Order: sequence, then structure tokens, then C-alpha cells
Amino acid sequence: MNQNCIKCDTKINDERFHLGYRECVECSSVEPYSAHVVYPHKTGAYVQPVSSSVKKDLDRLDRRAVKVGGKMSAPTNLKEWTMPEPKPKVEPKPQQKVYYNQVSFNDSYEQTINTYKKKGYVVTINYLKQLFKKNKITMSTRNQLVNVLTSIHMLNRKDRKRYFNGYVG
Ligand SMILES: [Zn+2]
Repeated sequence: MNQNCIKCDTKINDERFHLGYRECVECSSVEPYSAHVVYPHKTGAYVQPVSSSVKKDLDRLDRRAVKVGGKMSAPTNLKEWTMPEPKPKVEPKPQQKVYYNQVSFNDSYEQTINTYKKKGYVVTINYLKQLFKKNKITMSTRNQLVNVLTSIHMLNRKDRKRYFNGYVG
């Protein structure tokens, strides 16, 4: 880029040139200074002195530029500035109604096994069905108990006996 004065063709000093001056000190004294407001990130805005012609170009490029002494104008494109709305938190709905007289799997396990030992598989399955209907156990607890019971029932007599001796007093 040509760093010489556009009027007298003398070399402009570096600092002056990088500030946007295109005329040397001598020639630029003819032209009144304008100001261009710069909005760097984080720090506040500052006014950079530039020549009128440079200011015209900068203002065209920088829509946030404001006239010195004039009102600070809000940015015209608000979309660029609005932060995305935080999404409302969705509270998880309880999967099923809570019954406070319900019995957990662990609490109903031993009784289930004892019923099975005394009355057999079919009676125990019906018993669990009744417990679930009366909301004494959840569907999940019933399914777990039925699964365990079915696994035990499918063992041969010898393995079943071993299972009971090992796991149930
Ligand atoms: Zn000059």
C-alpha cells in the first residue's frame, strides 16, 4: 500500500499512516478532523481520529459508528445482539402414582419364595397378581418377582433345593 501523502507525495510516518491518515501533517491541517467511534471487544468504545475521507469509508463499513456529539444509536440489527432464550426446564412427570403402602422387591421376596415353597408356582403367581391389583407392589416389583420365581421353577429339583439352601434361610 502506498504510504505517501495523497496530496504532496511525501512519505507519511508509520503511526500516522496506520491510524488511517492518507495525508502528511502539512496537508492534513487543511482538512478538519473527524472522529470514528471504535467498539473493540470487552473494552469500552474509543474515538479514533481519522481524516474525513477515511471516516466516510469506515462509517459505511461499521454500522455501529455514531456521529460525535450525536445520540448513541442502538444497533439496527437487534437479532445480532439478542441472546437465545433459555429453554424452560421440564420437570419429569412421575411415571406412576405413588402408593405409600407398597412393598419393595426385597421386602416381598422372602414371602414370595415361602409361598412358592408351600403352595407352588401357579398359586404364587396368582398371589403376586392380587398384590399388584391391590397396589401392594408395583408392576416392576411384580415382574421382577415373577421372573425370579419362573427361573427357580425352571430349575430341576436338585438345583432348586441348592438355590433355596444357599439363598433363603
Ligand atoms: Zn502532504
